[in-house]
Amino acid sequence: MTNLLNFKGRVYRRVAYAIAALALVVGINVATAQPSQAGWLDLLINGVRVYQLSNMSDSQEVDLGGGINRQLIESGQIRIHENSSLNAYVDDIGQTLADVSDRPDIPYTFQIVEDDAVNAFATMGGYVYVTTGLMAAADNEAELAGVIGHEIGHIAGRHAVQQMRQAAITQGITGALGVNRDRLVNIGTQIALQLPASRSDEYEADRHGFHSMGRAGYDQTGMVSFMQKLVREGSPPEFLSTHPDARNRVNSLQELDTENAIPDATLGTNAAAYDSQISSLR
Ligand SMILES: [Zn+2]
Repeated sequence: MTNLLNFKGRVYRRVAYAIAALALVVGINVATAQPSQAGWLDLLINGVRVYQLSNMSDSQEVDLGGGINRQLIESGQIRIHENSSLNAYVDDIGQTLADVSDRPDIPYTFQIVEDDAVNAFATMGGYVYVTTGLMAAADNEAELAGVIGHEIGHIAGRHAVQQMRQAAITQGITGALGVNRDRLVNIGTQIALQLPASRSDEYEADRHGFHSMGRAGYDQTGMVSFMQKLVREGSPPEFLSTHPDARNRVNSLQELDTENAIPDATLGTNAAAYDSQISSLR
């Protein structure tokens, strides 16, 4: 009798756990997507992953960043520069800056794009890209760090996520079910290469990059000098080209540098050391 009761108790507990687990799963899903029952059936049958843009989690953002990265590479829109020591060098600079950024708690992926054009961009979920042309155009590590810091600033500010949300609303593809992951990856890929960031996003990324540089010990003047040089030479990359007020941005960075630079942040100014790091690009 006792055994039977125990057995029944165990069964009840198991059933209760199963119901609790089911409620938990449904609860999470409902919080994420809130679809109707018919919608759920459809999603389950087709294995479609659906994201709610209004409250995207970090792991969802990282997942989308990975999907966009794959699509950029597989579609041939970017070609990754395969040089392990050069990649390790850029990754090292990037991870150092990410650690002291306003968003240090997601994984970051820094990649070099094979392209003579001077350019850099970020998507979402920690994915940052710099071109071989930009690396060759920088005179020292501090200048490169300024650009990478700027791009991390876009990720920290979730600028691409906001752009994605706006694009999804404009295209009328958001609904009670949320948005299909594949569609989001497509939008994110378009945004990465085509849609310019807003003026306020650029200023925010500039400020973020500037302060991260200082916290990492880099000479913050490097950010100003590189932008000045690119404006002067008329070859502005993404982080300058999207707006006609590049000169104003340089001016505001100069002001930041004069008033807020960390005095003992002096790293990254050795041009010869930088040259030897990127000798394969020279
Ligand atoms: Zn930018």
